[in-house]
Amino acid sequence: MNKPRIVVIGSSNTDMIVRLDRLPRPGETLLGGKFFTAAGGKGANQAVAAARAGGAVTLVAKVGRDLFGDQAVRGFEADGIDVSLVSRDAREPSGVALISVAAGGENSIAVASGANARLSPADIRRARPMIAGADVLLAQLETPLAGVNAAIQWAAAHGVRAILNPAPAQPLPDALLHRVSILTPNETEAELLTGVSITDDASAARAADRLRARGVGTVIITLGARGAWVANAAGQQRIAGFKVKPVDTTGAGDVFNGSLAVALGEGQPLLDAVRWAGAAAAVSVTKQGAQPSAPSRRAIEALLR
Ligand code: ADP
Repeated sequence: MNKPRIVVIGSSNTDMIVRLDRLPRPGETLLGGKFFTAAGGKGANQAVAAARAGGAVTLVAKVGRDLFGDQAVRGFEADGIDVSLVSRDAREPSGVALISVAAGGENSIAVASGANARLSPADIRRARPMIAGADVLLAQLETPLAGVNAAIQWAAAHGVRAILNPAPAQPLPDALLHRVSILTPNETEAELLTGVSITDDASAARAADRLRARGVGTVIITLGARGAWVANAAGQQRIAGFKVKPVDTTGAGDVFNGSLAVALGEGQPLLDAVRWAGAAAAVSVTKQGAQPSAPSRRAIEALLR
């Protein structure tokens, strides 16, 4: 079977994580932490998830001319991702997130977007042939909206299905929502976009109705362990989540989106694709980390059997 062609546009960060008994207070220096780094950024996480799930993935992203950028690109290559559209910014360093995690799981995160903030419509112009030839375009909101908008516009003009994961949450113009094929907010993002606080299936349906009224064809609201609410012209329903023992739910949404793109790109019907993506995300929450926990196709299919 030919691999579905997925173009992901988005962010790449290096997460620098210190685990401590508790979070330091402002002005305080706290000794005794354990340090590790992990590749991150929603764009990169979703690209890695899509590649492991079986997609032929091209990542459109921007990193700096520095060691973190080198390391990020090597990581993408190791996952078989096409990095020909990962560009190097001469002015800004690669994006980093400084993360402190306390024993109880509480965290504080400081992000310096760096080169991510310079992913521009000019970069998208270079990606036009790739986007036009893709089965699915996948984007998020950690890079400037102008570029995301240009990519989705180009995809729509060429009949390419565009998935927008509106994370982190920010208000979006209706003109953009009209061109998105599938919008995939989590509960927080859906609330920010609609004003509806999501507590159950009925409120998820209300939020989905509002997004559809603003022009989105298909809305998929991810509901954590409860699964995902799927709404389009054919109707609405919840696709239940898989029962697993969660270890670390960071990046669940990224794995969901990356594997959803692959399932749809290979022609699975929408509800099957949502179930498949839910299985991939469920496998990922049983392991630590965002990118490290993105499962292989074999692991996804094992949960579905
Ligand atoms: P985000 O990570 O963006 O906040 P969610 O928490 O809604 O997104 O999770 C995305 C998807 O991951 C869910 O729709 C579900 O399929 C899966 N998922 C998340 N948490 C769990 C869990 N505890 N058990 C099983 N599946 C989960």
